Amino acid sequence: MHRIKSAGKCFTKKELIYANNAAISEDRNRQLNEDYLDSLPDDGVFPICLAFDEHNRGEIRVQIIFDEAGTTGFLDLTKNRYNLLPTAIVNKDGRVELKYTGKKPYPDDRPYVEKVSRKLVRDSSFSKRVLTAYGNQCAMCEITDTSLLVGAHIYPAHLCGDDTVNNGICLCSNHDKAYERGLICVNPDGEIIIYSKSIESSFLRIRLPRDKKDHPSPERLRQRLELSISKRRS
Ligand SMILES: [Zn+2]
Repeated sequence: MHRIKSAGKCFTKKELIYANNAAISEDRNRQLNEDYLDSLPDDGVFPICLAFDEHNRGEIRVQIIFDEAGTTGFLDLTKNRYNLLPTAIVNKDGRVELKYTGKKPYPDDRPYVEKVSRKLVRDSSFSKRVLTAYGNQCAMCEITDTSLLVGAHIYPAHLCGDDTVNNGICLCSNHDKAYERGLICVNPDGEIIIYSKSIESSFLRIRLPRDKKDHPSPERLRQRLELSISKRRS
């Protein structure tokens, strides 16, 4: 079983129920409670936070976020069905656009691109998980007061839907603002680059989480760096 890319992939409630019914009729290992799925909001968009490819079986195991409290569940589905799931893109006005790359997984008459006012469920436990991973200290200075710390996304969540700790960095409010504005940047290898005389950092490299599995993704750091550079140019 190995992890595969799942950024932005999501279920609508209808697709979730179809996929779960399929998992039940195909007798797959991970199924979800039907009553629970029925109780979910009809206009919800439920992101996949983790996806694993089960070799040999043509099956993907996904972890789905159901609510803002961070309730998740696992579901097994065919690779084919997984590939056809839409990707959620959050527009500036907060509307969620669902993009389908190929044929819809289930026959109905909906168009392949839906522009609808849907609410993407966000994992609000993200910030908490990031703070915990970084031992409640800013990655760029000595601040440890949790009321001044935020779990910031490295690459913006509305662009990738990645709410894993590997797309997070714990920052104090000063460094968070400076990072957001591109006044301070982080190289993919963790080196801190400062673009403003009024900003300081206690370290040359960001403080990393103790647990290696929580370390920031070099790929996300690279994407963020490119975004900051392009912002500064414009
Ligand atoms: Zn700081």
